[in-house]
Amino acid sequence: MTIRAVRGVHDILPGEGEKWRRVERIARDVFDSYGYEEIRLPIFERTELFARTIGEATDIVQKEMYTFQDRGGDSVTLRPEATAGLLRAYIEHGLFVHPKPIKLYTMGPMFRYERPQAGRYRQFHQLDVEALGDEHASLDAEMIAMLVEFFRRLDLAQRLQVEINSLGDEKPECRPRYRTELVRYLRANADRLCEECRERIERNPLRVLDCKKPECRRVLDRAPALGDFLCADCAAHFGKTREYLEATGVPHVVSPRLVRGLDYYMRTTFELTTTELGAQNAVAGGGRYDGLIKLLGGPPDPGIGFAVGVERVVQLLPDEGPEAWEGRRVGVFLIPLGEEPLKRLLPIANQLRSKGLVVEVGHGERKLGRELERANKLPQAKRLGVLQAVILGPDELARGEAIVRELKSGTQRTVPLSGLVDELLALGGRA
Ligand SMILES: [Zn+2]
Ligand SMILES: [Zn+2]
Repeated sequence: MTIRAVRGVHDILPGEGEKWRRVERIARDVFDSYGYEEIRLPIFERTELFARTIGEATDIVQKEMYTFQDRGGDSVTLRPEATAGLLRAYIEHGLFVHPKPIKLYTMGPMFRYERPQAGRYRQFHQLDVEALGDEHASLDAEMIAMLVEFFRRLDLAQRLQVEINSLGDEKPECRPRYRTELVRYLRANADRLCEECRERIERNPLRVLDCKKPECRRVLDRAPALGDFLCADCAAHFGKTREYLEATGVPHVVSPRLVRGLDYYMRTTFELTTTELGAQNAVAGGGRYDGLIKLLGGPPDPGIGFAVGVERVVQLLPDEGPEAWEGRRVGVFLIPLGEEPLKRLLPIANQLRSKGLVVEVGHGERKLGRELERANKLPQAKRLGVLQAVILGPDELARGEAIVRELKSGTQRTVPLSGLVDELLALGGRA
């Protein structure tokens, strides 16, 4: 019996890989251009790190983590998100001694044990960006603008909407006052809420606002709004963030119900949403988490960050990216007919590759017709559009020549072996 992949995970097959590379390349280009640096982190951490940062009461920690004991008896967890590990590294390596804000990004797989459904996986991938040590509202606006720029470069910005909100902070007159009001309202209307919402009223009341069920929406749309309860500082910070977004030319809407799933968010929170992916409509989201670094034993540095769901972005991309194989040059298929021609072509192949051409070499054992047939099916032939075949048999070798054949048109000519590399390089402009 064959072994299949674990439920809820997926393979990214060669044809799809192109889109993934494009997303990652544009992410690096854009984030680099805003002065962010890449950090690479382990995919598992001590379990307590996530319990402390994400919050014991959240669905992630209670139901969705891949937690196990390693052979040394330590409890470790496959990361369900990247922020916790990044902050752990920030504190552990004393990155906070450098001039702030410290701007970092990372990318890779995350793991959550969720019910598998269309477009949702147990191993999924995120781009994760964090700016630490600065609470100025212009940083919030810059980060949102950078996220929009990333989608603009992917040609997706016009299909997405920026939603922002402020979650206030933990000053008694701010979010705690709102939470009290909200719980009072939810308790009074509990019989009209779904079971999940009723459970959440005491445990995690803000999350109730997130429920999408129509019967709950009727109640929740009339719930008190957090925006009316912000303290003066939080209201000013939110106002400034919006002013800077407007100054940067980033269209956005204020979405009072935007609360995000994690306990640690405060003040600015944002999502990029689309109507094109059905109910799971957030493609990226994030927010501010001042206080979290201190909670982890670090300095009292504020922080803000976002994550982009790569699977969802890839789903939105059209099939042929205009920049596929950008930077690669013309593809060449070297076809030796026999052992001696093979040995003569091997060093030539390496010379061409080192100059940036994509080169495939036959083994010298197949008939010419079979090799030409295969050449037309090579991935580089499909992607580059043009593929030169170089045919070298014993007769050509004896004369010091090779045949260069353009596969699409079938036109061919004879080229001296001594000038072959230059000839192919001359052809090798961008396809
Ligand atoms: Zn509900
Ligand atoms: Zn406040």
